[in-house]
Amino acid sequence: MMKIKIVKNILDANDQMALENKKLFDEAGVVAINIMASPGAGKTSLILKTIDLLGLPVAVVEGDIASTFDAEKVGAKNVPVVQINTGGACHLDAAMIRKAVKGLRLKGARILFVENVGNLVCPAEFKLGESAKVVVASVPEGDDKPYKYPGMFSAATAIVLNKIDTLPVIDFNMKRFKNGVHAVNAGAPIFEVSCKTGEGLGNWIKWLQKLVS
Ligand code: MG
Ligand code: ZN
Repeated sequence: MMKIKIVKNILDANDQMALENKKLFDEAGVVAINIMASPGAGKTSLILKTIDLLGLPVAVVEGDIASTFDAEKVGAKNVPVVQINTGGACHLDAAMIRKAVKGLRLKGARILFVENVGNLVCPAEFKLGESAKVVVASVPEGDDKPYKYPGMFSAATAIVLNKIDTLPVIDFNMKRFKNGVHAVNAGAPIFEVSCKTGEGLGNWIKWLQKLVS
């Protein structure tokens, strides 16, 4: 019982900090989007493609356990970016975001993309002050992900299914995937895209533009 209580207190403190972050983002006129996925699903690729296609000023927070590779890729596009290295922690929390955005030029940006640590479990539990949670899944990971990680998929505001260019060579049952999503989340749109070929990204971009309009 004691352990359950401690976990709950940590989440309460995080929720409070997330509310403060949300206020800060509202004041800056920026909409924060928490992008979550397993490692290698294509979070950074999606952010890079979205920067090219969106036509709106954005800022980015990159979350990784270690390294600055992803922040360097985003920075090469002349977009304000901060890298968080969690040093082992498998998710971002609201306090990390608060600290990170202090070094970030938010004014003028319309969207703040927060790339969470690659992990389909606990990032769903920690609010960051975001207006939307986007879960990126990818075809090579398999159609069973919504069944195995229902918490993540039920928390999603939208789902991006990446790497659809691999559908011809991967055993992936689209109907099974979508049924799995709908079983835990009836309302979230599913965008089928390939960040490699650009296929399907138009509807995702439209959704983002609507979100900030
Ligand atoms: Mg990445
Ligand atoms: Zn974690």
